[in-house]
Amino acid sequence: MQAIYTERETYLQAAVVMLQHTVFTAAGIEPAEWEGKKYRVSCGFPIGYRGSRTGKVVIGQAFDPSISADGTAEVFINPILDNPAEVVAVLAHELVHVFAGNACGHKGEFARIARAIGLVGPLTATYAGSDLQSKIDSITAALGLYPTALLALLEHGNLTDYELADKTGLQQNSIGKRRKDCQDAGLVTHYRDDDGNKVKRPAPSGSKAYVWMLTDRGEELAKQIKREL
Ligand SMILES: [Zn+2]
Repeated sequence: MQAIYTERETYLQAAVVMLQHTVFTAAGIEPAEWEGKKYRVSCGFPIGYRGSRTGKVVIGQAFDPSISADGTAEVFINPILDNPAEVVAVLAHELVHVFAGNACGHKGEFARIARAIGLVGPLTATYAGSDLQSKIDSITAALGLYPTALLALLEHGNLTDYELADKTGLQQNSIGKRRKDCQDAGLVTHYRDDDGNKVKRPAPSGSKAYVWMLTDRGEELAKQIKREL
């Protein structure tokens, strides 16, 4: 089934893949071990958010597979969160619930994995310690150029910023910054001709723009994301 994700859910999905590859391994959980787990991650208002009498905001929630019709754990990330680093830290907490199962609550296996991956603070309201924070920073940098753009480069090989905006529908005025973040994260590089010269193609203004391509690491990540979607 080809699911259609919103930009935001695609982002969450890609962040899940990267957390599994770069963060959960610290708890001895290999990426392949997630294959048996059924879960869905989406953006939504968690139960208890609207009209909460305590005024306490629930920022993420993981529901046990037993309450879903098809036995899938449902993870919701509150759309009010718009700081990417915070979103990814909350996502990590919810994924610990998915892996540990909801029976142990915030104790037992949940507590062990949460601490092992670097979540600190009270177990019911964790945040990222400095080691985890730096891993999360590299995840959000890598996702700076949104997954749809990485996938567009995977599909089309090489594109200028203008062509990227055109293929993805992303805001053209923000794509340069996102592409630069991806370049800094080693996911995107200049497309060069056989003589090693950086290739340029005409921009709408009549000037010329550099053409960009995925690095091997960028291509690997894009393929991972494509497999997961
Ligand atoms: Zn929790």
